[in-house]
Amino acid sequence: MAGKFRLPKGMRDIWPEEMEVRLWVFNRIVDVLRRYCFRLVEPSPIESLEVLEAKSGPSIREEIYWFEDKGGRLLGLRFDLTVGLARMVAGRPDLAMPVKLAAVSNMWRYDEPQHGRYRCFYQWDAEIFGSSKPDADAEIVALSIDLLEALGLKEFEVRVSSRRLAEGFLNSIGVVSPETVESILRVIDKFRKLSSREFQEELLKAGLSQGQLENVMSFLEVQAPAKEALSRLQEFRSKGGEKFEQGLREVEETLEVLSSMGKTGKVLVDTTIVRGLDYYDGFVFEVYDRLEVGLGALVGGGRYDGLCKIYGRDLPATGAAGGIERTLLALEKRGKIPRTVLKPTVFVAYVGGVRAEVVKLVSRLREAGIAADFDLKGRSLKSQLEYADSMEVPFVIVLGPREVEAGKVRLKLMDKREEKLLSLEEALRLIG
Ligand code: AMP
Repeated sequence: MAGKFRLPKGMRDIWPEEMEVRLWVFNRIVDVLRRYCFRLVEPSPIESLEVLEAKSGPSIREEIYWFEDKGGRLLGLRFDLTVGLARMVAGRPDLAMPVKLAAVSNMWRYDEPQHGRYRCFYQWDAEIFGSSKPDADAEIVALSIDLLEALGLKEFEVRVSSRRLAEGFLNSIGVVSPETVESILRVIDKFRKLSSREFQEELLKAGLSQGQLENVMSFLEVQAPAKEALSRLQEFRSKGGEKFEQGLREVEETLEVLSSMGKTGKVLVDTTIVRGLDYYDGFVFEVYDRLEVGLGALVGGGRYDGLCKIYGRDLPATGAAGGIERTLLALEKRGKIPRTVLKPTVFVAYVGGVRAEVVKLVSRLREAGIAADFDLKGRSLKSQLEYADSMEVPFVIVLGPREVEAGKVRLKLMDKREEKLLSLEEALRLIG
């Protein structure tokens, strides 16, 4: 009973139509990654639990898949690609710096499944290790813009900030304990997911006083194109302190490089962007679809200079990751999913004991680089033609004893509803 066997919560199967689209998406992504000189790798899907816990501590176990293997080792499925890439690079002191690495693969998170949120999903991920310059951050933002545009998305916005801006601001209004700052940043990261009331309640719960809450809300209103946002941030500067200044510089300098690249058209400075994952510590950004904001971020990234040190090598790093499923949802919303499902180009149908010739013909077609298939069930010609029709095959070759004897094939052009008796060479010219 097939119906008894269900997929675990948050998991999904990928059928041919979607798989074809995914392969198309992967190819486009890889093209753009190569243009930016990123080299493709794949970190291991299973890590020692200590690698996954290294930054966040054991609390990460709540959010990931982890288990004990038969040898008693504690292991976990990767929850992103960044951690594995950082571990890989930290273990290779021979690499010339900076290193630009990318991966396109899946990961697992014990998230609550909803629209655009799964427990196993795919990301493209691009990281630059070994440069602390804003040029590297700008490369990552420009790459993210080019990737989305190469997939046919235009209406999106890139919201940039620095974690240090938010941290410096919180310090300046008297929130100094690192634990409280951390829990407030975690609430700020949910700015787009909560109603305004819930958001403010959570900020109070995280440790803000009513007066501090008002200050924070006015700081978080800074969400505007670069020039306007940077001039509004001047208001907060007088009491900001060194961390705030550093954050402001990071944002300004990255925007300057982006401007030289001609990539600021879709960029906004947005102080609510702080990123959820624990390892970010400087410039940060997220990309949102303008047509479907409820989808959550399409891309998220930023600087994490402190992460590689945990894995044994002190290396500045910056990077970004984009969700493949969310990008597909955004494309679907626009009717931009290419309908390029791979079907057999030629189906060879046959009657009357010519199976051996059919098998030979299919092999010849395949050798000529043509996708070809034939009936594997020994059905009537009518059933074979119905099957070919249901597969939307553009060409059907019908072979019977008469065609074999004449050294010809009967070629049906399915969309034109035409039929021709041709030599194989003539047929190949038409198909190819
Ligand atoms: P993150 O690694 O959390 O910064 O996520 C990077 C990108 O991956 C996000 O911007 C989303 O597009 C995508 N993403 C994150 N979590 C999920 C999820 N649970 N399901 C599907 N896509 C996700």
